[in-house]
Amino acid sequence: MKRTAYRTCPLCEATCGLEITIEDEQVKLIRGDQADPFSGGFLCPKGSTLGRLRDDPDRLRAPLIKRDGGHVEVAWEEAWEAVAAGLDPYLAADRNAVAVYVGNPNAHSFQNSLALRPFIKAVGTRNFFSASTVDQMPRQVACAYMFGGGLITPVPDIDRTDYLLILGANPYESNGSLATAPDWPGRLEAIRARRGTVVVVDPRRTKTAETADRHLAIKPGTDAALLLSIVSVLVSEDLVDLGRLDDHVVGAEQVAAAAARFTPETVAGRTGIAAIEIRRLAREIAAAPSAAVYGRIGNHTVEFGTVAAWAADVINVLTGNLDRPGGVMFTRPIHQPTTRAPRRFQPGRWRSRVRDLPEFFGELPVATMADEMLVEGEGRVRAFITVGGNPVLTTPHAGRLDEALAGLDFMVSVDPYLNETTRHADVILPVPPALETSHFDLAFTILAIRNVAKYSPAVFEPSGPSEFDILVKLTGIVMGMGPEADPAALFQMSLASQVQRAVSDPGSPVHGRDPADILEALADWEGPEQALDLMIRMGAWGDGFGADPDGWTLAEVAAHPHGVDLGALEPRVPEVLATESGKIELAPEPVIADLDRLWGWLEAPEPEMVLVGRRELRSNNSWLHNVSVLVKGKHRCTLELNPQDAAGLGLDDGNLATVTSKVGSVELPVSLSERIRPGVVSIPYGWGHAMPGTQLSVASQRPGVNTNLLTDSGPIDPLSGNAVLNGIPVEVAASS
Ligand code: SF4
Repeated sequence: MKRTAYRTCPLCEATCGLEITIEDEQVKLIRGDQADPFSGGFLCPKGSTLGRLRDDPDRLRAPLIKRDGGHVEVAWEEAWEAVAAGLDPYLAADRNAVAVYVGNPNAHSFQNSLALRPFIKAVGTRNFFSASTVDQMPRQVACAYMFGGGLITPVPDIDRTDYLLILGANPYESNGSLATAPDWPGRLEAIRARRGTVVVVDPRRTKTAETADRHLAIKPGTDAALLLSIVSVLVSEDLVDLGRLDDHVVGAEQVAAAAARFTPETVAGRTGIAAIEIRRLAREIAAAPSAAVYGRIGNHTVEFGTVAAWAADVINVLTGNLDRPGGVMFTRPIHQPTTRAPRRFQPGRWRSRVRDLPEFFGELPVATMADEMLVEGEGRVRAFITVGGNPVLTTPHAGRLDEALAGLDFMVSVDPYLNETTRHADVILPVPPALETSHFDLAFTILAIRNVAKYSPAVFEPSGPSEFDILVKLTGIVMGMGPEADPAALFQMSLASQVQRAVSDPGSPVHGRDPADILEALADWEGPEQALDLMIRMGAWGDGFGADPDGWTLAEVAAHPHGVDLGALEPRVPEVLATESGKIELAPEPVIADLDRLWGWLEAPEPEMVLVGRRELRSNNSWLHNVSVLVKGKHRCTLELNPQDAAGLGLDDGNLATVTSKVGSVELPVSLSERIRPGVVSIPYGWGHAMPGTQLSVASQRPGVNTNLLTDSGPIDPLSGNAVLNGIPVEVAASS
């Protein structure tokens, strides 16, 4: 039998619509969904592989338990008994002895997003880590200080902007991040087609840089200084104009004073960007009818990531481009209320045991995860739970983490693969593939460049327990209910308490209503969809359970299988702000205080050679390296090296080079490229599949090297706890 299904691709933040042709319950073809109002048929090579991921023989279909040094398949009952027996003693003695790591794929699953919060609360450990602190945490922190607690993050309005300054991002290959938009390449080309300007700041001449109006090859890690010097020009040349934000901003004077010393002439040498070019940037941004400054991974995963993230939005504010069409704007997500209670962002409610690092949004920096496992003392982590992710490949000083995981007493992983991280697990609980799970983007609807919504039902019947049920059952186990914990009953208890909170909240559209009526209205759905329906109906566009008959429900959203376009972003200041002052707080004290550290760093001696990462179109999560069509062709895990540097080192294209940092060493082939700035080398991330004990038959044939054997977990961005993954000092030599 032949049928067609529509759903959102969950592999990256672009959220493209897919049209999936199925014959005899097998995926025959995946194309871009032309009728999707957001993606309009756009698709990258990764999106067409969801069927292959489902069919991958290496994907786990049954739980695994480690026995005699290897993993064997067991029945679910046995796996759950082993999980309860393994965790219980540690939870009973000291809950901090159990650590949790949550990987990036969870952000792409509404089911996981809903299940993880109560799970982590139930574990009750201070040792909660996630991929956020090797990624976007600096931006989250900067935005929390400026706009209020939570994920209130403006996104570049790329469809209407006249001028886009991109720092440390390569959306031609990555399709964007913290700015959800299918077909970034087409949207960037459209800016230029309407006579707008795109400028890219990056140590590499990436594909994005190649297609821009200008490329500025900055020295890695110096974006914060560049952005502050733009601020200094805006102030000194009287180009500041807050426009309609004038009444909604506090701290502009402090920012002006703090940035004054970062003149273009002062920072030009260290950033590698000429003073005249910095002044040109400032003048162009100020003069453009609309402009957006947008930074991403290379801008954030550095020692001054939070300052850089903050400074980008300072420029947006000072030029009147925050919250105006064509600038950077806030979404009005369908599943969130219009306003939020003011909340002061206060990191450091607890601190890590070994390095005394503060928590941020409830999590400790992943850079210190291995310390908590390896360093002896009271509260040492002895048991570990991972949910998705592959931190042995994706977090700094990976060799040390690998050693730490090998020494744990007990580890359980919720994951579809036996990979470089889960090979250490005593129990692996496999999750169904994406096509066997329903989908709604909770996180990326918040970050989208238009107000959009789309719900996709599962394309196939799940072949095993859903990840949601697995996580809810795990919650029951860590609550002490044992392996008999019933996920359905637990979820209903949780839903009832959510409804109770809603009817008790004076700001809620269902305040004072009978909770039984609300629960009955949700009864058309099951499990996590009930919680999603509750969020949508209580959200900014929702029906409020009858309060607004024209409002949205999950059923209404689901009735649009290609998705719903709720329109372009509209100005939302001040309603969107959740700061204590009710204003945009432009000069947060911790950020301003960090400028002295930046100043000192700028004056310190520069390393001769530094390492940066590299993004590729056919790579994203490490498990995509197990999809043959995504790894075929010329091997991509190479050391990109400028010919000028190569000549000095006696290296040529294809030669083997040894790269050594403070913490490790790797050997890999060289690819010469004029694209990369002299003094900088690049290795893509997510490779390093040569470890024993994994089940990744395709990836292990072309393993590549793990760049995080070189990154150091010592230096971090202190304002966000984020790891430093770019600008790593290294030495390069020809391999002997
Ligand atoms: S760009 Fe991202 S969301 Fe779109 S098809 Fe590719 S991986 Fe999927």
